[in-house]
Amino acid sequence: MKLLRVASWIALASTIAILSGCATGVRLDTSKTAISQESRVKFLIIHYTALDMPTSLRVLTQQEVSAHYLVGDDNPTTIYRLVDESQTAYQAGLSDWKGFSRLNPSSIGIEIVNLGYQDGPNGRSYQPFPQYQIDKLIPLIKDIVARHKIKPENILGHQEIAPQRKPDPGPLFPWKQLADAGLIPWPYADQVATLQAGYEQQLPDITWFQKKLAQHGYLTPQTGVLDDATRNVLIAFQARYRPAKFDGHPDAESAAILQVLTTTAKTINKQQ
Ligand SMILES: [Zn+2]
Repeated sequence: MKLLRVASWIALASTIAILSGCATGVRLDTSKTAISQESRVKFLIIHYTALDMPTSLRVLTQQEVSAHYLVGDDNPTTIYRLVDESQTAYQAGLSDWKGFSRLNPSSIGIEIVNLGYQDGPNGRSYQPFPQYQIDKLIPLIKDIVARHKIKPENILGHQEIAPQRKPDPGPLFPWKQLADAGLIPWPYADQVATLQAGYEQQLPDITWFQKKLAQHGYLTPQTGVLDDATRNVLIAFQARYRPAKFDGHPDAESAAILQVLTTTAKTINKQQ
């Protein structure tokens, strides 16, 4: 009887020790908090998986790539949380934006189940994103952005942070809907039209395009010539802002959109 009582005392004492943090030998006083702090998450990166749903789930849970969230293509749409936001997911890879590099540790990644593109006899075709999927995605983005105070200009597609090697989320991803939801900046159409008329008369040179693309955030060569790397950056830019034509060719409309976007005071969409 007495032995039993001693044993239960030892069990109770060790439970208390674990609860109070004694087990690790570290005691912390958390009664004070610094006012100077912010989330380590600065960027939100959007992808398509280019795989069906079962394969997306398998690859993103069992292989060396991952994402915090996977938005399914089922209806109603399932949103899987595969990586806790306090952890790094392996989704951005080699990446750059506004002078920041290797964005995995400072970003949250959302993968969307979508097959991407297929090349056929009539050229390349992209799979559309069903509206029910986007209707689930937008509240998810709003929630993440609000909690981490991610800036509107840091909500990006994978292609934008890695234009030399990634095509996702592709030209059919509805960025305009994110703008209409008040999440991202969007160029005002009337300002674009006015500037475009001027640029039709005289198109800025490649040096101007390269400077503006870099100013907007893309890692862009500053070579003064339209090389493949610059074309790829222009394709990423056009696929987002002018998806009707994303051939990497510098034209008056692209110049006008770039000019409006880099004049930030005029571009944040006020509709919320
Ligand atoms: Zn991706």
